[in-house]
Amino acid sequence: MKLPSQKTKIIATLGPASRKKKVVEAMIRAGMSVARINFAHGDLEQHARTIELVRSISEKLNRPVAILGDLPGVKIRVGEIAGGSVVLRRWQTVVLTTRDVLGNEGVIPVQFKDFPKLVSKGDIIYLSDGFIALRVEEVKDTDVICKVLVGGTLFSHKGINIPKARLAIEAVTERDLKFTEFAIEHGVDAVGISFVGSAYDVLKVRRFVEEKKGRLFLIAKIERPDAVRNFDEILNAADGIMIARGDLGVEMPIEKLPILQKKLIKKANLVGKPAITATQMLESMTHEKLPTRAEVTDVANAILDGTDVLMLSEETAVGKYPIDAVRMMARIARTTEAYMDSHWASRIVEWKMSEWKGRVQRKGTIKDAITRSIIEALNSIDIKYILTPTRTGETARLIARFKPRQWILAFVTDGWVGNTLMFSYGVYPFTVEETSEEEILRVIRGLGLVRENDTVLLTKGTPIGKTVGTNTIRIFNV
Ligand code: PGA
Ligand code: MN
Repeated sequence: MKLPSQKTKIIATLGPASRKKKVVEAMIRAGMSVARINFAHGDLEQHARTIELVRSISEKLNRPVAILGDLPGVKIRVGEIAGGSVVLRRWQTVVLTTRDVLGNEGVIPVQFKDFPKLVSKGDIIYLSDGFIALRVEEVKDTDVICKVLVGGTLFSHKGINIPKARLAIEAVTERDLKFTEFAIEHGVDAVGISFVGSAYDVLKVRRFVEEKKGRLFLIAKIERPDAVRNFDEILNAADGIMIARGDLGVEMPIEKLPILQKKLIKKANLVGKPAITATQMLESMTHEKLPTRAEVTDVANAILDGTDVLMLSEETAVGKYPIDAVRMMARIARTTEAYMDSHWASRIVEWKMSEWKGRVQRKGTIKDAITRSIIEALNSIDIKYILTPTRTGETARLIARFKPRQWILAFVTDGWVGNTLMFSYGVYPFTVEETSEEEILRVIRGLGLVRENDTVLLTKGTPIGKTVGTNTIRIFNV
């Protein structure tokens, strides 16, 4: 077998442009590691079919692919506008109303009953990804009277962001829990939780999943100021994080995004939890065959920041070139990764625990020490693969945080654990009957991954049979 050409993982959102057999198959071949289903669009029957489609193709190609369901949370939206759009001009007055009206220059319907309760005089409201800005002048019963600060064309169903109002809205709704239940029933591997504000929101989903006796890898989407403020506790509660730059770039000053991205990724790396960088990564490929220079550079920089996963949204969901977008991302990844030599890993190892001011502590665990020493070994001898039997996936993730040049071949007996490893940089999961050294060697020899005398590094927990966790590394020639 041949391992993928890039170690960075790629999430592709499936939608009308891509939930077809041929497209999914080509996207998997091109390097898609995770298929994302956005519960905000489409219906459940549709989603069930998409899940089945991904599973069947992944099996046919014998390539692991994880499925991520994205819980929409509360996204306030504009309703229907006459003719599909309206032009709002600077300094004009416009009324946002919860009344059931067709929108025009003067009145815009909002699809959220409690909307007027969320705002007060002086608040800034953003429409259409922040392109249009309004200031609240007066709040009446069902109407919010606003002055246009930044004008533009507003289309039906565009999103509304009110950075201040989020505090009053529960991030995880009953509807989200319904989607979570659907996800469990249909064997989805992971869910993204939108507009998380604190660890409470993540724990709410976790408790629900436990009650339903399901298993889901929980990705906290960082897309509002509270989430940034409470990032450490959210990282602690979640299994992975997404830097959801779309909404984050509206809810926070957009110029803060680049540094924020670096800081959040660094923290996630340090504790060995996957970081996903999302939104507008190859945006122009929604319409064009090639991305812009700025986009290519953005993708490469996210990898250099230490992201585990790159995400495609509209590019693959509704774009003209879904397969090309995945291919392009894989090309940028493979080329950029070649530059990340061993100093890259060392840079992470050198982070002092004392510099870690957050509440996320991972001081002094055996796994932490073992995985750090692996990097030392990789620097001093020529090792072909890192072989990691893992029960929970944690050992593989703790090695992956150093972004080694070698593939981490993870051996699991639980297919779900294997799929969760599709969110970690450079990890390739194999689901096997047992994870003994003999069995692992048999598998990699059988697949033609190693030749006589290749040097490999194997992590182990001894004595075997006891759940002691990884505490040993062995380096040997096969
Ligand atoms: P969304 O999340 O695409 O579900 O809005 C990602 C983002 O906000 O960037
Ligand atoms: Mn979002």
